[in-house]
Amino acid sequence: MSNVKGKVVMITGASSGIGEATARVLAEQGAHVVIGARRLKRLEALATDIRSEGGSVEYQSLDVTELEEMKAIVELALTRFGRLDVILNNAGVMPLSPLDSLKVDEWNRMIDVNIRGVLHGIAAGLPVMKKQGFGQFINIASIGAYAVSPTAAVYCATKYAVRAISEGLRQEVGGDIRVTLVSPGVTESELAESITDDEARELMKDYRSLSIPASAIAQSILYAISQPAEVDVNEIVVRPTASMA
Ligand code: NDP
Repeated sequence: MSNVKGKVVMITGASSGIGEATARVLAEQGAHVVIGARRLKRLEALATDIRSEGGSVEYQSLDVTELEEMKAIVELALTRFGRLDVILNNAGVMPLSPLDSLKVDEWNRMIDVNIRGVLHGIAAGLPVMKKQGFGQFINIASIGAYAVSPTAAVYCATKYAVRAISEGLRQEVGGDIRVTLVSPGVTESELAESITDDEARELMKDYRSLSIPASAIAQSILYAISQPAEVDVNEIVVRPTASMA
């Protein structure tokens, strides 16, 4: 697809699900992908796959809650490819539970990964993009950024925050830098595996039985990147067609 070949795209949370699928799709289209996550072996296997298909990829261990690690992976992209076109702030966790189960550690983890992680991506990437005079942030929110449901109060709060931050960023940096919010509905991935609460896990079994593949979200990300520089696709919501949520 035009306007993707040769672009340098850094992807957080690329070791599974949407991040992994997007790395594959963008590399197929000729982008240089720089992938990060904590599970290094997964990244290594993905990089081997992408290279065997003729794609261009670099990988590095990344915990998005650590600003210095986010700066280091941005630096890797610059050192290796000399520019940074896109940061895909995708890493996220979703340990759902009712508020009265008081899983405060899990609330904090969602805040740290889902909100602070996105802010760290902005902190590491914005100075680079401003200096270059171009760039694009693509932040992954959720349909939970538009409506709240039981057991998902904190998760939805983090995704409302991602939506607010993305809109604020767009208003402040528009001109040279594009900002895109992508909000998936239920998508096949490992996301629900982090749920430790029995009630929430049971609820999710039914809810998640209707899903779309991660590649569907990757295609929407590809679409946003492939638009001409003066076209900024700001919000995309992608759901299973039969979804009522
Ligand atoms: P997965 O669980 O498959 O992927 C999540 C990714 O985030 C993994 O690669 C994981 O890698 C990474 N991650 C988690 N914590 C950290 C951390 N501290 N530092 C770096 N990476 C981290 O789920 P999805 O692909 O579904 O999730 C991707 C995004 O999509 C998330 O933001 C999620 O909220 C959002 N989303 C997903 C939906 C769905 O139905 N699947 C619906 C709506 C939104 P590792 O553990 O190796 O670090």
